[in-house]
Amino acid sequence: MYRLAQRFQLHGWVQNTSDGVQMEVEGNRDAIDSFLHALAGTPPPFAHIEELAVAELEPVGEIGFTILHSVGEDGRFVLVSPDLATCDECRRDFSDPENRRFGYPFTNCTNCGPRYTIVRDIPYDRHKTTMAAFRMCPACQAEYDDPAGRRFHAQPNACGVCGPSLILEPGGRAGSSAEIISEAQRLLAAGQILAIKGLGGFHLACDAENDAAVRQLRERKRRSDKPFGLMAPDLPTIERFCFVSDADREALSSVERPIVILPRRVPSPISSVVAPGNNTLGVMLPYTPLHHLLFEGAAYHVLVMTSGNMSEEPIVIRNDEARERLGHIANTFLFHNRDIYMRADDSVVRTFEDQPRVLRRSRGYAPLPIDLGSEMTEVLACGAGLKNTFCLTKGRYALLSQHIGDLENYETLQFFHETLEQMKRLFRVKPRVAAYDLHPGYLSTRFALELDGLEKIGVQHHHAHIASCMAENHLSGKVIGVAFDGTGYGTDGQIWGGEFLIADLADFQRRAHFRYVPLAGGDQAIREPWRAALSYLMETFDTERPWLDLPLGREIAAKKLEFVETMIRRRVNTVQTSSCGRLFDAVASILSLRHEVSYEGQAAIELEMAACEGVDDFYPFEIEDGEPWQVDMRPAIRNIVDHLRRGVPAGVISARFHNTVAAAVTEVCGRLRQAEKLNRVCLSGGTFQNVYLLTHALAGLRRNGFEVFLHSRVPPNDGGVSLGQAVIASRKAECAQ
Ligand code: ZN
Ligand code: ZN
Ligand code: FE
Repeated sequence: MYRLAQRFQLHGWVQNTSDGVQMEVEGNRDAIDSFLHALAGTPPPFAHIEELAVAELEPVGEIGFTILHSVGEDGRFVLVSPDLATCDECRRDFSDPENRRFGYPFTNCTNCGPRYTIVRDIPYDRHKTTMAAFRMCPACQAEYDDPAGRRFHAQPNACGVCGPSLILEPGGRAGSSAEIISEAQRLLAAGQILAIKGLGGFHLACDAENDAAVRQLRERKRRSDKPFGLMAPDLPTIERFCFVSDADREALSSVERPIVILPRRVPSPISSVVAPGNNTLGVMLPYTPLHHLLFEGAAYHVLVMTSGNMSEEPIVIRNDEARERLGHIANTFLFHNRDIYMRADDSVVRTFEDQPRVLRRSRGYAPLPIDLGSEMTEVLACGAGLKNTFCLTKGRYALLSQHIGDLENYETLQFFHETLEQMKRLFRVKPRVAAYDLHPGYLSTRFALELDGLEKIGVQHHHAHIASCMAENHLSGKVIGVAFDGTGYGTDGQIWGGEFLIADLADFQRRAHFRYVPLAGGDQAIREPWRAALSYLMETFDTERPWLDLPLGREIAAKKLEFVETMIRRRVNTVQTSSCGRLFDAVASILSLRHEVSYEGQAAIELEMAACEGVDDFYPFEIEDGEPWQVDMRPAIRNIVDHLRRGVPAGVISARFHNTVAAAVTEVCGRLRQAEKLNRVCLSGGTFQNVYLLTHALAGLRRNGFEVFLHSRVPPNDGGVSLGQAVIASRKAECAQ
């Protein structure tokens, strides 16, 4: 603003307030017009102008242009920037031997660097960040005070003289940044596992081409198959082991610098242990100076950079916490002494139809709001159980938390609490309503129900999925909602997951679903897809026991099969489920692709990977009338077993099965359109992360003239549920008034 005001010779002042930026400019009319034009047309890099409000005042004879001290006002709301990847100019600074920041791993400016992860409160000023501990040297202070420069009021501004520094442990290997980084490089090249403190938390890093190192990391982290994220120094390196489209290139290089899921090349130098049995890899580019420097002149090409945590716990942010919780995983710690205030994992996106689709929304995206287009009641939506996020509404904004994780242990629940407190304070939200999932076992649900003084509104899981898709696409009125996922508690107490709804933001009707099957063994049924296979086979073949001559019957112990068979027949410890996830599990196990999983969705992912291209036909299925209609997949299961016996390759069967589910989507939506005269379809739920299914369902719907809406900024999986809960609860609270 200051620079612009100078350029157009305007007088007045500008001020950061907790309500946004305020300013007065005085000068001749043309100059003011040009100023406003330049401001709206060419804002600073990465600046979003949410709204530009202009009012005319009587001239008061201002002289000069001043930047006033920031003011904070209680109850006022201001946006906070997400963390920004290192900009090109800063990269030049620390790469230039003549520059005073040569090799300095914490270089940043107003266009890049840490933000959300270091902010304690607003307005965003240095003393309210974790940089408060560092006093700027005269050179940095001069930059900070110089309105003409790139570091003018850059709150985390620092250099090697005054700013944060690196520490290598054990051995107290203090030294210059250059010495420490080259030692870290040497250790990584020698196959060691390093815990590296980053922007939103620690990474565990090792050479991605070193099988033994990656294997050791898996064993120590107790993570058997779930893919590890990778970091490579530049796009050409990534293109050596992955296929990268233009949209992928853009997503990889974006200022958010997410992990991008890319199809992998075969063969490739990347260790097969990085993502066992997966035909994609998650890759990101460096986003801090330290990352860039770690690749400078290194002997390795690509690093595994996985979250620094034990299996499902939150990412570690403090040095002492790292020693305690990562000590048995990492050989060496690469610490620094700038505190991380907010935890934020790496975000994950996948491009589809040339657009990035966020699958895990965290660093780089949070806490940017989703504009809902109209004012909402202040709501706290507590989210689902797995892949939890929560959502606060303020004015017309939905403030979605960063990815919290699976609310299944104390540590993750603490992360939920600390983030909620921080966001309520930062954004001055005092929720009047708490929204929760109907699942009585979710810790998020229990948390919501225990809150004092708030109105409680329960929201059905799949309604929330559809509302979340509607909210990010700014839809109102009624839509056909197709919500496919693994688990969601139904209004009838059963486990839903293959749902066709007629929904708006206030209410929904369940008009069709996959026919219920009895599933034995609660959570164990999710870890052991062969149980779902048994359920589907028994439902389809009654007493024939077809598994006896299928691979399944040989690969699972007869005793276990008999035991679960009896449970299902007697309905002991069983639930009725319409879950789409369990249907995919069943088919994956019948095809002998996977009987047990070590992470959520593994069987479905492997079933998708098996599907071969160029198969267009599908298996029969039936739609039984009734309220709701039931989509009966037993004819498909019967055909799959028949094909398997006749030696049809699993890849062909898998493709036909996917086509069958896609055909069911088109068929049911067609019937609903006839009944309801609705033409808009929202697709949501974790199952739609399946690109084969999504592609074919979308093609079928579009061929039939439907207008289809997908997710892009919010995950289709349970990470998006809190947004849906928030808009539904807000609507319901308004209706009740
Ligand atoms: Zn910069
Ligand atoms: Zn300095
Ligand atoms: Fe879900």
